[in-house]
Amino acid sequence: AEAALIQSEKLAAVGRLAASISHEINNPLEAVTNLLFLASSEQNPSLVKDYLDQASHELARVSQIAGQTLRFHRQSTRPRAMTPRELLDPVLALYEGRLRNANVRSVSEHRGDPKFVCYEGDMRQVLNNLIGNAIDAMRGDGTLRVRSRAARDPRSDANGVRITIADTGLGMSAATLHRIFEPFFTTKGINGTGLGLWISQGIVQKHQGKLRVRSRTGGAHSGTVFALFLPLETTATDSGELLS
Ligand code: ADP
Repeated sequence: AEAALIQSEKLAAVGRLAASISHEINNPLEAVTNLLFLASSEQNPSLVKDYLDQASHELARVSQIAGQTLRFHRQSTRPRAMTPRELLDPVLALYEGRLRNANVRSVSEHRGDPKFVCYEGDMRQVLNNLIGNAIDAMRGDGTLRVRSRAARDPRSDANGVRITIADTGLGMSAATLHRIFEPFFTTKGINGTGLGLWISQGIVQKHQGKLRVRSRTGGAHSGTVFALFLPLETTATDSGELLS
């Protein structure tokens, strides 16, 4: 009976996910349909071009949503042992250009290089999301601080590693903080998908880890800290399946 209950909860979750994804994808697709109709009945070439440009903008959004959902499902490799430094350095290298453009200084402090087991691709995506969000939150002259050390989870008492991603950005209001792990919740309008943290939370739970957040708005000391706790070993068998 318990298995059946879990199964029906899973199906309900899949249904909700499918409904919200189709909703998100349907709006831009309807816009594309309308814009193509307008373009096909328009004589003025410059207006035709406007309609087509808008249509391609809407399609880019569809592919952004699909891309972000799929990337997560593709990365189920085998777990391997690595240090936080090995995990983080390639992600930071990826953001070098954006850090420079945003005039954000990045500081890394790794204590002790503890090894832990994880699905590298999935965990890289988590850090990718956290670091990308941190940079988005800083409007120039900020500092991105990445730290890691061996740690013990205060609640479960498990041994593991703790990775923190701290920014000196705008911070989040209590109302925003309340909703950040919901799928499609974004404050970035057309530039956000609202999937990053939801997907990240799923990956971290799959690893029996914890993702916690603290944030402060206003004043000179605003900013956000995401603290990621990961146990030394993971018993997850297939990181590709989000809802298992
Ligand atoms: P997206 O980045 O596409 O909006 P996410 O799920 O990654 O989707 O983030 C959801 C929302 O959480 C963001 O739109 C933003 O409002 C908030 N957020 C996440 N990280 C930060 C951060 N470091 N600083 C401020 N706000 C953040």
